[in-house]
Amino acid sequence: MVSEFDLITRYFNRPTRHTVLGVGDDAALLALTPGHELAASTDTMVEGVHFFPDVNPESLGHKVLAVNLSDLAAMGATPKWAMLALTIPKADEAWLEDFARGFFALAAEHDVDLIGGDTARGPRNICVQILGEVPRGRVLRRDGAKVGDDVWISGHVGDAAAAVAHLKGDLRLRGSLLTHCLARLDRPAPRVALGRQLVGVANSAIDISDGLVADLGHICERSAVGAVIEFAAVPCSAELMQLRGHVLVTRAILTGGDDYELCFTAVAERRSEIEALSGQTGLALTRIGNIVAGKGVGVVDPAGKPMSVKDGGFDHFR
Ligand code: ADP
Ligand code: MG
Repeated sequence: MVSEFDLITRYFNRPTRHTVLGVGDDAALLALTPGHELAASTDTMVEGVHFFPDVNPESLGHKVLAVNLSDLAAMGATPKWAMLALTIPKADEAWLEDFARGFFALAAEHDVDLIGGDTARGPRNICVQILGEVPRGRVLRRDGAKVGDDVWISGHVGDAAAAVAHLKGDLRLRGSLLTHCLARLDRPAPRVALGRQLVGVANSAIDISDGLVADLGHICERSAVGAVIEFAAVPCSAELMQLRGHVLVTRAILTGGDDYELCFTAVAERRSEIEALSGQTGLALTRIGNIVAGKGVGVVDPAGKPMSVKDGGFDHFR
């Protein structure tokens, strides 16, 4: 049977590109670019909670890194290093190979070095820590939203939660709609380039991991403001459009998690600049509402009537 050390060497010790000392010693050693601050974040994925036991390991390797990259994207930081704490029930080499393939493909795409981690036996649990850099004093934060700001989101929301509703048996998706939603759930694309471009443009930002209303709510809370968004302005994919009026799909769009788009706020004078960013990157950027005095996130229907948003988002302890 393969030992812990063989396993690390075989699957997780890869050449690094911008690291003083990576896997193999008691700690990794990093050199920061002068004039920058270190941004650090971590996210855990637990079998049965964040992913289904039979999930494709390559997708899981992608996703556990993607959700961490997304956090740095929301800060406007450039991800550079990752650490991987892996707890697995057994040394299943086919599983590890697929997992590592998914992980390293995305790491290469974002020029991220895997610099260390930990490996243990137990119920499957995967924890990634991500480290990146941001020019000193320039980071995007949740607490910068100002009354009057426009609220924007990148891409579109709802697909991942629609896929989860399908997998739970609550919603039936078929054919290309199902394929599309599952791909959005399994292979989120962290908006790292956009986050960097929003530095100096946005007043506040967050990534949408728990649902639009809940995550915009975090911006509001930290900024001591409220927000009003128009449901009709919130973009969903062309694929999901036909089901937009279905109560579970409406809920997926407003409160479904796992989209990993960015939600940000900016003054109205920045509109043309933000539209130009969208043109450059080919990523849709849509104005969905405004920051207002008060607290909490309100959603209005096309008639301007408040919509009740029952489930504010995903919360593990509620
Ligand atoms: P220690 O006993 O000092 O904690 P380990 O035996 O846990 O060291 O790890 C040996 C080396 O392998 C360290 O550099 C550690 O960071 C790295 N490592 C362990 N597990 C992983 C993993 N899953 N992915 C990447 N690096 C790992
Ligand atoms: Mg260790």
